[in-house]
Amino acid sequence: PILDYKEETPSSQAFMEEAEEVMPGGVTANIKYFEPHPVVMKHGKGSKLTDMDENEYIDYLMSYGSLVTGHGHEHVKKAIMEQMDRDGTWLFGTPHYLEVEMGKRLQKHFPSMELLRYTNSGTEATLLSLRLAAAHTGKHKIAKFEGHYHGGYDQMLVSVSPSVREAGNADAPYSLPESKGMHPSHARNTITLPFNNLKACKKILLQHKDEIGAVMIEPVQAGFIPAEKSFMKGLRQITEELGMVLIFDEVKTGYRTGLGGAQNIYGIKPDLTALGKAIGGGYPVGVVGGKKEIMMHSAPSQGSDVFDSSQSKRSSSKDVLFHSGTYNGHPMILAAGMAVLDILEKELDDVLKQTEKLKNGINEKLRKYGVQGEAVGIGSIFSVVLNNKEKIRNYRDLQKTDLATRKEIDFRLLGKGIYVKPMNRYSVSTAHSDEDINQTLDAYDEVLREVYEG
Ligand code: PMP
Repeated sequence: PILDYKEETPSSQAFMEEAEEVMPGGVTANIKYFEPHPVVMKHGKGSKLTDMDENEYIDYLMSYGSLVTGHGHEHVKKAIMEQMDRDGTWLFGTPHYLEVEMGKRLQKHFPSMELLRYTNSGTEATLLSLRLAAAHTGKHKIAKFEGHYHGGYDQMLVSVSPSVREAGNADAPYSLPESKGMHPSHARNTITLPFNNLKACKKILLQHKDEIGAVMIEPVQAGFIPAEKSFMKGLRQITEELGMVLIFDEVKTGYRTGLGGAQNIYGIKPDLTALGKAIGGGYPVGVVGGKKEIMMHSAPSQGSDVFDSSQSKRSSSKDVLFHSGTYNGHPMILAAGMAVLDILEKELDDVLKQTEKLKNGINEKLRKYGVQGEAVGIGSIFSVVLNNKEKIRNYRDLQKTDLATRKEIDFRLLGKGIYVKPMNRYSVSTAHSDEDINQTLDAYDEVLREVYEG
């Protein structure tokens, strides 16, 4: 298939050669590169992307899950165009009505967000949540789970995809840096926990109880491996007992496991939640929300007149948590975000049903060819695991599966117009029709035959 792919994507190849003259590796995010060269898209509409050679693909990447309403949805487009004209400007640099309107709608779906702040990305949202937690507890170490991603900054870029050989015992994983150039202190100050293993987590958290201020978790790891209910309940209990702020990173799960995110499914109230991706409908956004008493650390004047410092309750300027951002709460983005909510409040259930159809269809195909494997996930995201001996519960389990064959399948699917690169994540949107699903399953059937029956 590699030869076919190369033959069918000459313009992408030529483009990437030019791009390499401008950007390292020709990309603005490392994950966007794959061998022999990434496919370069030039058009998107609904469930489809078209590349520079006019090849059409059914897109399941959906921009890393962020496009729950598909590409170029007319209602979202209209909202943006109208917002462009409505107030004359597209950026006030002051508080404005959209921040409150959107905030109220988010609070309705995420009641745990007693107060919230906007940021420009999921990364910034998780970063702010860590500072809030440290300000609240006075404890500066943080705990995260092996295999969980919260953004590309040093504090959290620890043990996201470690080599199992180097990562130590599954019950007490090492904290390993993911990148060149990281300060070694981060691997010391960020404690790594094993996902879905309550006993081991409790032991580690107790060992560090006076240092850890925050525990951050993707309630559904990488968008497809759910926390077990009893694990989540236990984690909520132990963090409460030990005075640690429990942060749900719902950047991926927000709107994707349902409008109220994973917290609604688990019936668990985190202290803080970070949102991103789908909330902005394809525009850069992040949100941090949670308990009033924690969020209020970032309130600027704490009830006193900022011009009258002698009357201020603060003993110094350092008494307030710093949070800033020129584009936070950008009106155009919030207009897009509200349009996305309009659509999903009506149509999200259909997306979830459509996802089930695709998952069941893939599982049937795997059985048809006698392949040990399954589509794993909840809500509108899933991934296909192959050769799993048992249920996939965490990062270590995933590493034991047949990742090489899965990569080959994804590549062959690409050649048949199904886009699940670069990391085998299927994100379904309101735009994915029955016809798309049937076409995907036909392609899956052909690929399985090629791979397993030669
Ligand atoms: N947290 C999770 C769970 C994510 O999936 C991502 C993005 N993949 C982030 C945080 C970072 O978000 P962003 O790329 O918007 O900075």
